[in-house]
This record gives sequence, C-alpha cells and structure tokens, in this order.
Amino acid sequence: MLKRIREALGLNNNSPFISEYFFNANMRSSIYMSAIIIVLEAWMIIRMTHVMFREGLQDSFSFLFSKYYSNYIILIVTAFIVLTYASLHLTGKIKARNTGRFLLLSTLFICLSFGINVSLNDYSKGEQILVFVTMVLYAVCLITWRPVISFIVSTASCLYLYVRMNEMVAVNTGEVGVTEATKINFFILWISIMLICISNYNNMRSQAIKDEKLVVMNRSLERSSVVDELTGIHNMVYFRREAEKLADLDGKLFLFLDIENFKSFNEKYGFHEGNQLLIEVAKAVEDTFAGALVARYSDDHFAVLTDENGCTEAVDRLAKRIDELRRDIHLQLKCGAYRQKDGETDISVACDRARFACNTLKKRYDRCFRLYDKGLEDSFTLRNYIVNNIDNAIENGYIKTYYQPLISSDNTCVCGFEALARWDDPYYGLLSPAVFISTLEDCRQIHKLDLCMIDNVCREFTKAREEGIPVVPISLNFSRLDFELCDIVASLDEKTKEFGVPRDFIDVEITESALADSGDVLFDLLSRLRKSGYSVWLDDFGSGYSSLNVLKDFSFDVVKIDMQFLKGFGSNSKTKTILESVVKLSELLGMSPLTEGIETDEQLDFMRSIGCNKLQGYLFGKPVPYDMVKESIRAGKLRISPEYINNQRR
Ligand code: C2E
Ligand code: MG
Ligand code: MG
Repeated sequence: MLKRIREALGLNNNSPFISEYFFNANMRSSIYMSAIIIVLEAWMIIRMTHVMFREGLQDSFSFLFSKYYSNYIILIVTAFIVLTYASLHLTGKIKARNTGRFLLLSTLFICLSFGINVSLNDYSKGEQILVFVTMVLYAVCLITWRPVISFIVSTASCLYLYVRMNEMVAVNTGEVGVTEATKINFFILWISIMLICISNYNNMRSQAIKDEKLVVMNRSLERSSVVDELTGIHNMVYFRREAEKLADLDGKLFLFLDIENFKSFNEKYGFHEGNQLLIEVAKAVEDTFAGALVARYSDDHFAVLTDENGCTEAVDRLAKRIDELRRDIHLQLKCGAYRQKDGETDISVACDRARFACNTLKKRYDRCFRLYDKGLEDSFTLRNYIVNNIDNAIENGYIKTYYQPLISSDNTCVCGFEALARWDDPYYGLLSPAVFISTLEDCRQIHKLDLCMIDNVCREFTKAREEGIPVVPISLNFSRLDFELCDIVASLDEKTKEFGVPRDFIDVEITESALADSGDVLFDLLSRLRKSGYSVWLDDFGSGYSSLNVLKDFSFDVVKIDMQFLKGFGSNSKTKTILESVVKLSELLGMSPLTEGIETDEQLDFMRSIGCNKLQGYLFGKPVPYDMVKESIRAGKLRISPEYINNQRR
C-alpha cells in the first residue's frame, strides 16, 4: 500500500526505461508548448508595438521594454532553445539528457515567473490572473513532472502569487487582503493543478510500464527466435541472417559439425543426459571458435562460419575436447567444410554442402575433416538430381527392373529372381542402386521407387505369363522406411490383386541393418506380410552387428547370407567353417538359407556340399532386364526349375 502511494506521488525510483519514456514524452510536449509560446509572444510583441505606435508612446520605449518586451523576448528565446533541443533530441542528434532536464526546469521557472508577474500586473488593474493559469498549464500540466515536484512548484508559485496579491490589495485598498471568494478560487485552482499533475503522471507511468513490458517481451521473443532453447547458443535463423550480412566471405569456411555416436550415448543414458552433453558440446564449439559465427544446426549438428586460416587446427582441438567429454562412449567429431565460390550467396546451400562433405565421413574412423571439393561437388549434384528427379524418372519409365536368377543348388535351375532397381537416365546413363538408394532413403522418398518396382514386377510377371513363359517367384527389396512412409503392404496387396499375381510368387527382402534397431512395429508389419501370404526374407545376413538378435526376434522364410562371407573363400580356412555354421543355424531355426555372391564353381560346389539349397551370384547370371531374361529362358540358357514348369506354382 505504502509502496503504491509512494509510486503515485512519484517518490519511488523509476526504471531507466520509464525515465527515458517520461523524458521523451516531455520532449514531445515541449515542442508543442514552445511552439505555442513563440506564436503567442510574437503576437504580444506585435500587439504591443501596434499599441505603442497608435498611442504615440515611442518615448516610453525603455519603460515598455523593461516591463513588457523583455519578458516576451525572454520567453520567446527560452521557447526557441527548448524547441531546438527537443527536435534535436527526438531526431537522435543530441543525447545529453541532463541539459534537457535543466532546460525544462529553467522554462518552468521562467514561465511561472512570467505568469506571476503579468497576473499581478493584471490583478492590480482589476483583471484576472489568466496568464498565471495559462503558464501553469503549460509548464506544470503539459510537461509531466513527478507529483512531488509539481506539488512543490505549484504550491510555492500559488502561495507566492497569493501573498503578493494579498499585500497588493492591502496596500491599494486598505482592505485586509483578497476577498474570501478569491481565496476559495485560489484553493480550487491549486487543487485542480495538483489533481491534473498526479493524474497525468500516473497515466503516463502506467503507459510506460505497459510499454516496458511489451519491449521486454519483444526482446525475449526476439532472443528466443535467434537462440537455441536447449544449448543457449544461436540458432540457424541467426546464423543465416548474420552470414548474409557479411559482404566478403573470402578466406572463410562454412563448417558442418556432427558428433558421431551421439545416438548411442542417448540410448545408453537417456535424453536428459544427452541434453546435458549437447550443452557441453555447444559450449566447446563456441569456445573453440570464439569470434566466429556459431549456431546449432539441429540435433547434434552445429554450423560454424570461420576463418580458413587455422581452421583445421581448431577442428582438431575440438575433436580432442569432445573425445574427452565422455570416456565411456567414443564420441567422434566429424566436420565437413565448404568454401563459397565467387558470386554464390545462398547460405543454406553452403551449409548443405558442408553437411554433405561431413556425411561422407560417416563411419570413417581415420578422418574427421573433409573439404567439399570437385569430387564431392559431382556427387552432390548427382544427389540433388536424384532427389529432384525421382518423380519424373518414375513417370517417364526411367526406373527399370533388372532380374537376377536365384538357383536351386541341387539342380542349378532357376527357382526365383531378385528384382533389382536401375535408373536408366537420359543424362547420366544407367545408375546403380548404390548411387540412388541411400539418397532416396536420406530424403525419405525411397517408397516411391519401391512402389514403382512393385508395379513393374507385377506388370512384367503378368506379361510373362501371357507370353507363355514359365514364371517363378520374384523377390523385391523393401526399405525399412517403406513401412513408415506409406502403407506398403496395402499397396502390394492392391497391385498383386490388380495384375492377378499370386501372393506366394512375391517375396519381400528386408536387410538386416534395417531391422537392427527397429521397434516391434516393423516386426508386426512383417508378420502382416507373412500372414497375407508373402514370404519374408532376411537380406544381407551377417553384414551388421546384431545379426543373431534379428534371427531371434523374427521367423524369416529365407535367410540370405551376405556375400561378404565369401570373401577370402580360397585363402581363409575359417570362411568355410563360418558358412557351414550359418547354413546349419538357419536350418535349425526353420529358415531356408540362400547364399549371395557365388562367382566360382568352387564356391558352388562347397555351398552345395554343406546343403545350402538356394544360391545367387554372377556365376548363374547378372541382373538383366526382363526382355533378356525372357531370351535366356527361351534359349535354354536359364533353366526353370521343373516344379514351376509343371504346375506354375511353388
Ligand atoms: P541386395 O539386395 O543385397 O542385392 C544384391 C546385390 O548384389 C545386387 O547389387 C547384385 O547385383 C549384387 N550381386 C549379385 N550377385 C553378385 C555377385 O556374384 N558378385 C557381386 N560382386 N555382386 C553380386 P545391386 O543391384 O547393385 O543392388 C545393390 C543393393 O541395392 C541391393 O542389395 C539392395 O539392397 C538395394 N536395392 C536394389 N534394388 C532395390 C529396390 O528396388 N529397392 C530397394 N529398397 N533396394 C534396392
Ligand atoms: Mg536383396
Ligand atoms: Mg543382399
């Protein structure tokens, strides 16, 4: 309560913002006030001069000057000085606030003295004290003072005027003093002035408080729009904005930083610990690149715009510091760098390129820095081409299906085909999946390709049947993302139904790596596939870290043993033992083994001897287009397993 009263009377300390607000408002008011004073007093001078000449009082000029002109001139000059100062202050040309305060106070005293003088004069002539009232209005009400100052000033001036008037009346009329009515009028005038001052002050103060809150809010909004909430360092909005402001990026590098293994840390210790670590990493990045432009890009990625000079040394220092952050999990810094070419201005593209360079370092434990060079530029261009042209390629039939035979080891006849995608591009020529699969996965467009492959396979399967060519099951490769990005099972059902392809003629291959850290949802979807009548195959078994876990978690119809196992077949005696054990293991688990990558008769004989009943590899045929498969079957180069010739079914 006491605090409220103190605030209302202006006895408290105002914040710098509120003081500034009052000062600026007073500067604006003083412009109007001075303008009015200048006009009024100029008019008074003209009027007085006119009277002087009309009445022929030129001889009394010195008297008139000391009594009237001097007052008008003082007021005009004061008003002019205040007007000039206020205009300069409001246009930002003058900053000194104490001078302004001094000027305002001086004006206050000059106005009030003038008001008192003229009003005493008027009163002595039996007129009213209107000039005093006007001056009080200008100086105390138009300019907002703290109520306590208004109180002192208006009380002192009212009292002074009242006492002088009282004396004057007593001397002139011999009466005791001014009449009772004048006393009451004085009191009412004083009270009104006080109320106006208090109300003015408090209105303006509450407006200032509101504005201050708005400014604070705006500042915090602005801050949060450029600061990363978690790490407290700048975000990419700020990074792009500031980088764009730099006219000369000569000798600068855009860096994209990635912390490899961060995911494992998160998995091991949970998100909270992960966040703490990110904060530490952000700090380390900022410290290492002090003075450079640093921002959190996303997740565990950071963007830096720094001098090329000393950059690799700084990256090495940072890599060391990050490595030391947590000893239990090997955190490795990866850094891609991009040097903008002349005429290039797009910051996002620069960051994308640095990121691309960084991504090429994934799982490369020997390197942590890579500059985006010509070689990378070509693959980056190709990658962008793939992303931007996949729809077009599908529409124009550039996505082709190649078929590679799967062989029964007992009779070396074809018991199936694997459908493998090729992109027959008019500009780049024939692109292999190694080029486009991972890119399409990265940009989450792989399902488009796989849906197209389903369509191609079903279409060509029906065509073969219509042409009287014996058909065998076809296996399709699905990406784990297909299950996320579309309802691939429903699409497969739809297409097989549309083309009349029996479901047991379609096998779905899913790679072991896709299943490694997938949740139950994917296994549920694979069960749905199996229940619908398709076979589900585990592709590239043994190529990852969690092969056995995958076998434990799901029953596959076929396990495709990765061709890596055949490496060193002739030289490494352990290879055969491992292959034999893997074949046995799949059989024990009720899954049929298939070995990929058979290239020699020796490999064929061995795989046959250990009972691997299905084989695939260049020895039997490379992936070729449908027409060539047809030719080979017709020419007897590919012999179809008798079970498919007789009843056309498995
Ligand atoms: P994958 O499913 O393991 O396919 C086998 C790959 O090994 C094929 O490569 C095939 O040409 C190659 N290969 C087969 N026999 C031999 C051999 O004896 N020696 C050697 N050195 N290689 C052999 P390709 O066609 O380049 O496919 C690469 C990978 O791309 C495939 O591996 C598969 O994971 C993926 N892929 C291919 N087509 C598609 C598709 O339509 N959709 C999806 N999602 N992935 C696909
Ligand atoms: Mg495959
Ligand atoms: Mg494979």
